[in-house]
Amino acid sequence: MPQRILLVEDEEKLARVVELELGYEGYEVTKAADGREGLSLALADDYDLILLDIMLPQLSGIEVLRRLRKSSSVPVIMLTARDAVSDKVSGLDYGADDYVTKPFEIEELLARIRAALRHGRALSESEVFECGELKMDVPRREVTVNGTAVGLTKREFDLLGYLLKNKGIVVTREQLLENVWDFDFDGGTNTVDVYIRFLRGKIDDAFGIKLISTVRGVGYVIKDEQ
Ligand code: CA
Repeated sequence: MPQRILLVEDEEKLARVVELELGYEGYEVTKAADGREGLSLALADDYDLILLDIMLPQLSGIEVLRRLRKSSSVPVIMLTARDAVSDKVSGLDYGADDYVTKPFEIEELLARIRAALRHGRALSESEVFECGELKMDVPRREVTVNGTAVGLTKREFDLLGYLLKNKGIVVTREQLLENVWDFDFDGGTNTVDVYIRFLRGKIDDAFGIKLISTVRGVGYVIKDEQ
C-alpha cells in the first residue's frame, strides 16, 4: 500500500510540483490549499505524514499543528520561509518533527520525508505497554492514563515508548538520542532533558503520578510501582 502524504500548501504552483514529484516516488498525495481544510482532512483521515506550510489562509500552519497535536502524533514537516526563525521555534514548541526552508530542492524534501517516515516506524510493532495507570497502544498511537487520552507529539510518543520498552532499565541520554532522534541529529543531550520535561508536564504533572524517574548523572527510567 502506498504511503499517504497530506500536503497543506496555498502556493498552487509549488503544491503541484511537490505533488507530482511525490507521485513519482510512489507516495499518494492529498492536497489542501488552506489551513482549515488541511486540519479537517488531517483529523478525518489517516496519513503517514503531513507537509504543512506555515503561512496559510484561514488558519496558520502553526495553529493547524497546535490543534492537530491535541489528538495526533502523525509526523509533520513544516515548510517555512527562509530565515523565519520564530516560526521554527513556535513550530517546535507545538510538536513539528522537522523543517524544510523554502525554496527547497525536491531531493532534500524527499530525504526529510524518508527520514521522518523511517523514524515513525521505529516503534511500530504491535506492542501495548502498561505501567500502573498508563497505557500505550503503539499500533493505534494512543496513550491513556486511567482511560483519559494524552495528546503527545510524535517525538514525545517515541521517547515514552522507548522508556516503556526498557521498563526497569536506566537509559542514558545518549541511548535516547541514538534511538529516538535521527542518527544525524546534532542537538546535544540537553534536548533529551527538554523532551522529558514536556512528557512530565503532560503525564506526571497533569495526572499527579510519578512515572519518569531521573537517575542523577546517568539518565532516566520508568519503573512499575516502587
Ligand atoms: Ca503559503
